[in-house]
Amino acid sequence: MKPSIKSLLLDELIEELWQLNEPPYRANQIATWIYRKRVRSFDSMSDLPRPLRQKLKTKFAYTDLEIVRILGGKDATRKFLFRLSDGNLIESVLIPASPALYGSRSDRRTICVSTQVGCAYGCKFCASGLDGWKRNLSADEIVDQIIAVEQEAGERLDNIVFMGMGEPLANYENLLRAISILNAPWGIGIGARHITVSTSGLVPQIRKLADQPLQIRLAVSLHGATDAVRSQIMPINRKYNVEALFDACRYYNSRKKQRITFEYILIENVNDSVDQAHALAKRARDLEAKVNLIPYNTVDGLEWTRPPRPQQERFLAVLRNAGVTATLRREKGHNIAAACGQLRLQTERALTADFSPTTAGPIRAA
Ligand code: SF4
Repeated sequence: MKPSIKSLLLDELIEELWQLNEPPYRANQIATWIYRKRVRSFDSMSDLPRPLRQKLKTKFAYTDLEIVRILGGKDATRKFLFRLSDGNLIESVLIPASPALYGSRSDRRTICVSTQVGCAYGCKFCASGLDGWKRNLSADEIVDQIIAVEQEAGERLDNIVFMGMGEPLANYENLLRAISILNAPWGIGIGARHITVSTSGLVPQIRKLADQPLQIRLAVSLHGATDAVRSQIMPINRKYNVEALFDACRYYNSRKKQRITFEYILIENVNDSVDQAHALAKRARDLEAKVNLIPYNTVDGLEWTRPPRPQQERFLAVLRNAGVTATLRREKGHNIAAACGQLRLQTERALTADFSPTTAGPIRAA
């Protein structure tokens, strides 16, 4: 299979062109066609000589994602279901005005992006882990989610959160390559501070990301502040326990200016006790981290429920009284960006024409 031209960084493109006896400035022309003018084929690159376009076609694929369905209307949360070239399905979510998530202004348009087909980490609350891991997404498949959603929405996006299907840090090389393209002035041009990587807690990769020069934000799917509770929910905790995770977070903090965000899904009688709230408050305060509390949304095939409202408020109050910046997500059905990937079941349902929207709005076949 030919490599996608959208997986190349600019200097790699220059190198490829050099091998084709083409001058370096052609690389900028090509990048402009791909990322600024957003053409959909080599044939549309009208200021390139025809023989060069032919050479590019011979050497590279010009990839695109196929939109299968869109759920939700304009100005509401919209889910995009994409088919990859091998037939696998992934989903991205466009959140028009998220309430000051991940340190960004509240009027920002945020896209929640997938990085893998399925997931190997099997967090107990998450639909993505139910069917296991299929494969990593390539860098172009990650970047193409942003391009396709911007094209469909007709406007530029401000924030990217890697929080869709999959564990982003388990696809580290392709993730970083995609981020380089998204961040580059010759690419999509989104500032690193507007890019958030969410992880279930892959300690070595958190440290690696910390050493990486871009000021990318980190969100950690925590969901338990002690080993006893977290191991019950997230198998990864048996490999990298809470202490090891917080060591890595401290290291991240020492290398970056952005505060870490902890995602915490409140599950009744599992992790919603006042004791857990105190343990979480201490951890978050030590790191000056923010906490996003997300009341659990029922997932078919999983047994848990969300705590009653007063219990959610009690949990929040413990954090706030301890001086922690914390939010409690109130909107129902808005847990799309809650953890890295609760979208898989909806995706599967779409395949069986049983894709009933939880956020209301028409189903549109593209
Ligand atoms: S929460 Fe994230 S890491 Fe855990 S199973 Fe879901 S997609 Fe994987």
